[in-house]
Order: sequence, then structure tokens, then C-alpha cells
Amino acid sequence: MTAHRSPLSAHGAPVSFEFFPPKTDEQREALDRTVRLLKPASPEYVSMTFGAGGSTLSHTVDAVRSLRSKHALDAAPHLSCMGGSRAEVRSLIEDYKSLGVTRIVALRGDLPSGMASIGDFRYASDLVAFIREETGDRFRIEVACYPEVHPQANDALADLANFKRKIEAGANGAITQYFYNADGYFRFVDAIRKMGVDVPVVPGIMPIANFSQLRRFSDMCGAEIPRWLAKRLTAFGDDASSIRDFSADVVADLCRRLVEGGAPGMHFYTLNRARPTMAVLERL
Ligand code: FAD
Repeated sequence: MTAHRSPLSAHGAPVSFEFFPPKTDEQREALDRTVRLLKPASPEYVSMTFGAGGSTLSHTVDAVRSLRSKHALDAAPHLSCMGGSRAEVRSLIEDYKSLGVTRIVALRGDLPSGMASIGDFRYASDLVAFIREETGDRFRIEVACYPEVHPQANDALADLANFKRKIEAGANGAITQYFYNADGYFRFVDAIRKMGVDVPVVPGIMPIANFSQLRRFSDMCGAEIPRWLAKRLTAFGDDASSIRDFSADVVADLCRRLVEGGAPGMHFYTLNRARPTMAVLERL
């Protein structure tokens, strides 16, 4: 039987989509519309982010339930441990078991301002080890990694060693922070392979919808926007359609390079919007 590839499938590589949990009815309806538009790309799974310190704790569980039941998608929760206790994490894991979840994206998260205690876990590696202790091989565990180096790392080599700790603690795969420089990804993968780490490293892809928002995010998370890209986007001013087309071309070229260079898939940061991700997928 011939497999029919959807017009939205990405250059033959598996895709996953990341969403954040909606909090109001309006946001829930908007996410439903986004999911319906993206579903034809047949994502391998979709993931739902988690606010540190429990702020969106129940929203994440509810949103995962809805993606699984309403949209029949393999939905994976993110679970960040910063500020959380072992008991809280254990109870969340129980919720996810009862929903039939098979994959968790395990993160440290960041301490929200005003929250004094880091809780029972210091690093994502502690969370991975805890999930393994509690549940054995029940879940596939993804962790985060940073081809352009995590902003709080002492240095690039320490960051690589810390990434390896998460794999040794039991993670099965990694998703990168977004980037626009493919060489950084390939160098990162080369470096960890030399350290004996053989898990799949899926690039996180950030389609560009709003340049000022992207600049803000990038400042916070340490992702570099190359000068040529920033300059071109700035020069378009308010010309939204030129920004849209140019950005989609740039991000689609990045995806093509990554997949041709061996990336095992692509994880799209959708920010709950369908169009910017669809524009990239359509070009692939
Ligand atoms: P860690 O792996 O613990 O690393 C954090 C820092 O500590 C790094 O600088 C590392 O080098 C250092 N470190 C690690 N172990 C050690 C050690 N043993 N000794 C000394 N230093 C060490 N945040 C959310 O709040 N919710 C989300 O849903 C979410 N989803 C994300 C999804 C992806 C794919 C990515 C890339 C990030 C996501 N984040 C999310 C952001 C993430 O929580 C932050 O980047 C956070 O600052 C680090 O999380 P981590 O899991 O990478 O931490």
C-alpha cells in the first residue's frame, strides 16, 4: 500500500507540536481551532507546557486530557520541578498514568519571582531520576538541551556534562531550545556523540510570527537571532505579509538543512497559533 504523505508533513521527518495550556473558554476554543488545523500534519505527539511553581499545574493536566480525548492525539505533558515537592510530582505522575500518558517532557523550569524555595529538586536530572525511581520504564522521558548553551551554565562544556547527567539519569531523548543557526545544532550533536550520548536530539523550531515578541523571548532564554535576520525583519517595519513570507522561507530552509543533516524530527513551538507553523510546513 502506498503511504499518502499529508501536504503538511515535514520533508518526511516526524513532527511534534508544543502548546501552552489555555486558561479561559476563549483560549480553549482558539487552541481547538489551532489543533484542528495542525492535525493533518499527523504529529508523532503533541506536548503541553507547564508553568513553574504550579501556576498552571491543573491547566496542564486538563489540557492534556482534552488533547487526548477530544482530538485523539498522543499528548505529552511537560513537568517542571523547580519549586515543587516530591509529593506534588508523584501526584501529577499518578494523574498522567490514569490518563494513559506515555511520554513526559521533564524540565527544571525557572523559579518564578517572589517564590523563595527551590523545592525538592535542584536540577532536571533529579526529576528524571525521580520519575524513573517511581515509575520504572512506564514513561518515555524527553529533556531539554541548548545548542547555544543554557544562559545559567558555567560554560559550554559544563552544560554538555550536565546534559549528559540527564541522559544517565534515564532520559530517552532531547528537544533543543530554538535556534536559527543550524551549525550550532550539528556541533552540539557531534559533541554529545563524542561523549557517548546516543539519544535522538530533536531540534525545537520557532516559527516567527511577531518579531518583537521573539526578541523578548530570545533575550530571556539565550537564543540568538542572527544579525542578518534581525536586520531584515526590522526593515520590513509594519509590513506583516512580507515578514510572514520571509520568516516562513527562512525557517523552512533551516528545517530542510536540519533534516538533510540527520535531525530525527522537528518539534514546533506553536505558541498556540497554527498559521506560522503551517506556513513553514507548507514550504517543506
Ligand atoms: P537543567 O537541565 O536542570 O539545567 C539548568 C541549568 O543548570 C543549566 O545551566 C545546567 O548547565 C545547570 N546544571 C544542570 N545540572 C547541574 C549540576 N548537577 N550542577 C551544576 N549545574 C547544573 N520551562 C517551564 O517552566 N515549563 C515548560 O513547560 C518548559 N518547556 C520547555 C521545553 C523545552 C523543549 C525547552 C528547551 C525548555 C523548556 N522550558 C520550560 C524552559 C526550561 O525550564 C528552562 O530553560 C530552565 O532554565 C532550564 O531547564 P532544564 O530542564 O534545561 O534544566
